[in-house]
Amino acid sequence: MMNRFFSLFVRCWHVKRGPLITLRPETKRSGAAAITGTYSVCLACGKEFPYDWNEMRTVKAQRRQEKKSA
Ligand SMILES: [Zn+2]
Repeated sequence: MMNRFFSLFVRCWHVKRGPLITLRPETKRSGAAAITGTYSVCLACGKEFPYDWNEMRTVKAQRRQEKKSA
């Protein structure tokens, strides 16, 4: 119910983040998870945030994958 309430607003501060979710390398990734393999979800609006363990913080979704994994 609260999720629908918050979704009515254009601006969400994303203060209610869910736990970090890490996908296995072999898992087919999509969306935010495709960037670093780890992401968290805003419990209020459902937006996904890619998380970079190397930088220990959330990174922007627009960022390209610079590292080439052999
Ligand atoms: Zn949000």
